[in-house]
Amino acid sequence: MSLGGYLVYQVGLLTLPDPYTIQDVSHSNYAVKNELDNFPSIEGLRRAEFHARTVLVPMQELFGVDKIPLNSWNRNPAVNRGVGGSKTSNHMEGGATDVNHWALGMSSRGMFERIARSRIQFHTLICYHPDTVGSLHIDSQPGSNRRKLQYRHADGVYRSTPWW
Ligand SMILES: [Zn+2]
Repeated sequence: MSLGGYLVYQVGLLTLPDPYTIQDVSHSNYAVKNELDNFPSIEGLRRAEFHARTVLVPMQELFGVDKIPLNSWNRNPAVNRGVGGSKTSNHMEGGATDVNHWALGMSSRGMFERIARSRIQFHTLICYHPDTVGSLHIDSQPGSNRRKLQYRHADGVYRSTPWW
């Protein structure tokens, strides 16, 4: 079997849970604008599948929706650099999503608190700028369910949340 065939075979073993698609994993407005490849690696696809099953599907149940609307999922290294992502960002291997909480009619802080009180097994949940418009990041790592909760204020400093 050719290397290409082998890779296709490997990808074929991965099944993102409905309704998530490879387009959801690879979409990036920054990548489109800058004509950068943002298709994930095989490892990125594996992580994306794990993330969808571990985080996104349970979030659908928590919020009573058919799909979690996302602003960002996988980011290849050039894309991650371009958007100013952390050098160790879980987005680089498909293991993190930024949630479009506006599309669900919720504040980032409101979603953050609901997820924090749930049993969803995430690695880190971050509410950026919780006192203003905010945004919400959730990531996962196979073998980790540490459920670290952070607020990151406009000064750039990460703080543990006060009540958990
Ligand atoms: Zn993020």
